[in-house]
Order: sequence, then C-alpha cells, then structure tokens
Amino acid sequence: MSLRVVVPIKRVIDFALKPRVKGGAAAIETAGVKFSLNPFCEIAVEEAVRLREKGVAKTVTTVSAGNGKAADVLRNSLAMGADRAVHIETDTADATSLALEPLAVAKLLKAFVDKEGADVVVLGKQAVDDDSNQVGQMLAGLLGWSQATNASKVEVDGSRVLVTREVDGGEETLAAALPLVVTTDLRLNTPRYARLQDIMKAKKKKIEKTSPAELGVDIAPRLETVSLAEPAARQGGARVPDVAALVAKLKAAGAV
Ligand code: AMP
Repeated sequence: MSLRVVVPIKRVIDFALKPRVKGGAAAIETAGVKFSLNPFCEIAVEEAVRLREKGVAKTVTTVSAGNGKAADVLRNSLAMGADRAVHIETDTADATSLALEPLAVAKLLKAFVDKEGADVVVLGKQAVDDDSNQVGQMLAGLLGWSQATNASKVEVDGSRVLVTREVDGGEETLAAALPLVVTTDLRLNTPRYARLQDIMKAKKKKIEKTSPAELGVDIAPRLETVSLAEPAARQGGARVPDVAALVAKLKAAGAV
C-alpha cells in the first residue's frame, strides 16, 4: 500500500486558554492571545505520520486555510514528520469562530484534494475554537467518499480501512472502502513532541502556497454571528453544616 494522505490542520486559540469576547463586538479577542495547532489536528498529523512509518502511506501532506499566521502550524506539522505543507492563503481575520466557515473550508479542501489526488484525508473531529464538527463530514459529502468519524483506531487492511469508533456503551468497528475521509478522536494516539533538530529543519523547509482563487472557490461567508456572550460569572459556593441546612437553602432558592 502506498497511500497519499492529506491532513487539513487549523490554527486555533490555545486549548488551555479561556476565550474572551471582544468588548462591544460579536467576536473573540485575539490580540495578545496564544494560538496553537488544534489538538485533534495534531492527532491527525501523528496518525498520518505513523501510517507512513508503517509503510502504509507514501506521502503525508498537511494543508491549512487561513491568513498568514497559519504558516506557524504548518511548520509544526513539518517538524512532526509531514513531507509537505501547503498554505491556502486567505485574507480572513485572525482565525477562530466563523472567519472562514466550515462549508468554505470543505470546498477549499475538496478542490485541493482533487488536485493532489489523495487516497485518504485525516482531519480533526472538530476545531476547538468553533466546535463545529462539520468540515470532515462536508468534505466527504462533496468528494463522494466514504467517511468514518471520531476514530479511536485506524488499521489499513488491504483495500479497506478498519476504523474503530467509541460509541455509547462500547466500540464500533467500520470497514470503509478507499478513498476515505477519517476524523480523529482524542484517544486515537498521543502525538509526539517534535525533536529540536526537526524543529530547526522545519524552519528551513518551504511552505507551498495556493489561494481560494487558484482553487476556484468562493469563500464568502453565508452566516452572520448575531451575538456572542461569555457565560454568566459563577456565584461563589458556600459550606453548610448539615443536610437540614442544605435542604433549607435549596428550598429558599426555590430549587426543591
Ligand atoms: P470543524 O468542522 O470546524 O470543527 O473542523 C474540523 C476539522 O476540519 C479540523 O480539525 C481540521 O482538520 C479541519 N479544518 C477546519 N478548519 C480548517 C482550516 N481553516 N484549514 C484546514 N483545515 C481545517
């Protein structure tokens, strides 16, 4: 087997940070905020590189759509072992939420995959900024390919791929025909830390560029974010001496 694997990756606000709403705007504050590779995309890169290390994949190409800063995560993917990295350059505002809608991303990826002639596309199951969980499914629909979402194990078995998914109360294994779109769940693997020498080498590697116009895709938004609000601040907790006091408090608050 010598599959050509494409891994779409997204630069998002670091998962450890709490996003803040920009004062007076229906947008997230991005100034002075740390961005990193979406964790599910990191898992996707790791899985693709492992497939190449096992001799199942011939090439691993990462691709990211976004403004100039998307190049950062593409470099990370090269340091992790991707062979090539391609930037679909857009003039959208700093990533997060709907700067580039899932449908627009799926259309860009469809055009890219057609051009590349890939056999497998491995995506994150969701981007942790907009939590859309849409791009993989839309891409499979646009390509007319098989799809196996939320994978916790991927094994290539001849001309088919066995994908295990965690479902309510157990696991399900699907046998999917190639070409295939897979989306990654958290337990699929533990991504490697890139070695310093690989990080240094990745800095010198070329990031290829293309654009929505070159791919013939209209990325104009179709959705409008009407409002965005942070959750109400949590009220402080209090200790009660015994159950009777707890019940009295709950009654007073109208909870029971
Ligand atoms: P979403 O449907 O937005 O939650 O994203 C699911 C997956 O689609 C991500 O984990 C990425 O693999 C891919 N994806 C989303 N946005 C982009 C983007 N701008 N560029 C490349 N891949 C993306």
